[in-house]
Amino acid sequence: MQYFAGSYDLAVIGAGHAGIEAALAAARMGLKTVIFTINLDAVGNLPCNPAIGGTGKGHLVRELGALGGEMARAADACCIQYRMLNRGKGPAVHSLRAQADRRRYQEHMKHVLEQEENLFLKQATVTEILTENGAVSGVVTQLGAKYEVKACVIAAGTYLDSTVITGESVIPSGPDGLRSSTELTGCLRKLGLELRRFKTGTPPRINARSVDFSKMELQAGDEEIEPFSFTTVEPLQNQAVCYLCYTNERTHEIIRANLDRSPMYDGSITGVGPRYCPSIETKIVRFADKSRHQLFLEPCGLDSNELYLQGFSSSLPEDVQVEMLHTVEGLEHAEILRPAYAIEYECINPTELYATLESKKIPGLYGAGQFNGSSGYEEAAVQGYVAGVNAALKILGREPLILRRDQGYIGTLIDDLVTKGTEEPYRIMTSRSEYRLLHRQDNADQRLCEIAYSYGLISRERIEAVREKYRLVDREIHRLEGCGVAASEALNQLLSQRQSATVSSSARMVDLLRRPELHYEDLAPFDVDRPVLPREVCKQVEIRVKYEGYLARQEKQIADFAKAEARRLPTDTDYHAISGLRLEARQKLSQIRPLSIGQAGRISGVSPSDIAVLLIYLGDK
Ligand SMILES: Cc1cc2nc3c(=O)[nH]c(=O)nc-3n(C[C@H](O)[C@H](O)[C@H](O)COP(=O)(O)OP(=O)(O)OC[C@H]3O[C@@H](n4cnc5c(N)ncnc54)[C@H](O)[C@@H]3O)c2cc1C
Repeated sequence: MQYFAGSYDLAVIGAGHAGIEAALAAARMGLKTVIFTINLDAVGNLPCNPAIGGTGKGHLVRELGALGGEMARAADACCIQYRMLNRGKGPAVHSLRAQADRRRYQEHMKHVLEQEENLFLKQATVTEILTENGAVSGVVTQLGAKYEVKACVIAAGTYLDSTVITGESVIPSGPDGLRSSTELTGCLRKLGLELRRFKTGTPPRINARSVDFSKMELQAGDEEIEPFSFTTVEPLQNQAVCYLCYTNERTHEIIRANLDRSPMYDGSITGVGPRYCPSIETKIVRFADKSRHQLFLEPCGLDSNELYLQGFSSSLPEDVQVEMLHTVEGLEHAEILRPAYAIEYECINPTELYATLESKKIPGLYGAGQFNGSSGYEEAAVQGYVAGVNAALKILGREPLILRRDQGYIGTLIDDLVTKGTEEPYRIMTSRSEYRLLHRQDNADQRLCEIAYSYGLISRERIEAVREKYRLVDREIHRLEGCGVAASEALNQLLSQRQSATVSSSARMVDLLRRPELHYEDLAPFDVDRPVLPREVCKQVEIRVKYEGYLARQEKQIADFAKAEARRLPTDTDYHAISGLRLEARQKLSQIRPLSIGQAGRISGVSPSDIAVLLIYLGDK
């Protein structure tokens, strides 16, 4: 029996990483928003690695922070160990990764949702999405509560028709023993959405008291900690460590001997898994020549003995998991607190969505996160933000927010999903961007804060702070360009120490800074008029000076890209009526419905000659 539970502007199904950002963004834009989750104690759950960030993922968190999203702040409030990955390489691939206290992260996010004005958090299972004239009009919960809404974001994660698989055990379940979401899946199919089955997996959790750490390599956090959020000012502390250990031939033998009991190899798993997060059994099969694989023991929280064994994801039977675990040095007596498992779930084909993440089939329906075919907390959070903002903008009758791939990793991720689609859980990587050097994590504020401010998503005070930061950067670079330093014994001593060519006459400060062997702080003793500048300004100055040529080249590429993006294509174009287009191109263009010539050019199966035909069709001479 249904009952009327109220009118809201927006419904968000799911309080995982995507749902949280979607609901907060819409509520902060003034929309009356209701957010549903199957279990309130699993808001912001980290069902897999207790970590935020990583290669490419750190960029997403920083970009989301620049746009006013929540994850960056929550990570700085709840993380217990910080490491900047790839520090030995160029700044384009520097990526922040931090261990999060899982329980604190959940409590923090739940509290943020509970306090947010215009936002109503509910423990309820949505079973149906209602439509009127083909557009979203409401949602219904398992207890018969009917909510009238103008739009709905689906951020149902790994719960849609999900099954958990451990050896011979295959049970309908969500992650961590939470219930699966079946009725909603049935409703989505009836609405005509194309769903497919994906899979992901997680390793066992071990009790720290049963580990012999003396046989492992300690992995400490960085001395100098960079926060995720550009607005975090208080210094952050490392409060925990990780450990590194390895599998060995004994481990591999046990796995090989039990592949016939592996759901990955006996056909019981049909969902497609992430290529870049393989299970240990897949690694043993795929890299048979490797004598050992790295495993990281990661703390799950300060008040917990639980350790996450990264690199040991599996769906092998529990008895085999115990056996293979006890072959690892230091884990001979390890106690499993939670066994490893695989989970299969339904998700949408993201080419059914526009770059606003709105469905092409059902106006007012938006998709975000794992539901869109991606994998990862960070990938989910940025999609949630974009879906929530766009649902709100549509309700407010305002222009949509489309983040383009020339603006950063969020734009790249969404464009990859909605234009190229994905046949496996999509994970962000720095190699996915054509403009890596420009899209660094350290300048996400410069690239995205003006956009967020123009949509009212960050404050005037915030944008003023960002503008001032980059004014200081420009001013300092200008000063260095006009500032010379005389050749001196002290200077040449420094240069020799750094195996850098000595100078016989005066040199421009900026030219010295361009040398890879020298850093901004090295030149301070020779730079008498140097102003005192914040650390992040000095960092920007150094990067901009050192990579000036490369950056200019990428900016040129972006200008060319932006031209093609600016060439808009009407979404109701009848591609089958355009003679000269090849059949495959007509089919693909009709399916994807690109918004621009640029996007059309990125669709696989659309050739440059098809683009030429389209340009003529648009009247371009
Ligand atoms: C076992 C496992 C292993 C993973 N391994 C990896 C990995 O190795 N690497 C990686 O990058 N990512 C991994 N992930 C993925 C990662 O957890 C997700 O990418 C991330 O949590 C997705 O966020 P989300 O917001 O899309 O969905 P989720 O975090 O899954 O949240 C979904 C939310 O939807 C709610 N919900 C679902 N259906 C309904 C309904 N009908 N009504 C109301 N609420 C509903 C749930 O209660 C929950 O709040 C793994 C996930 C799992 C479960």
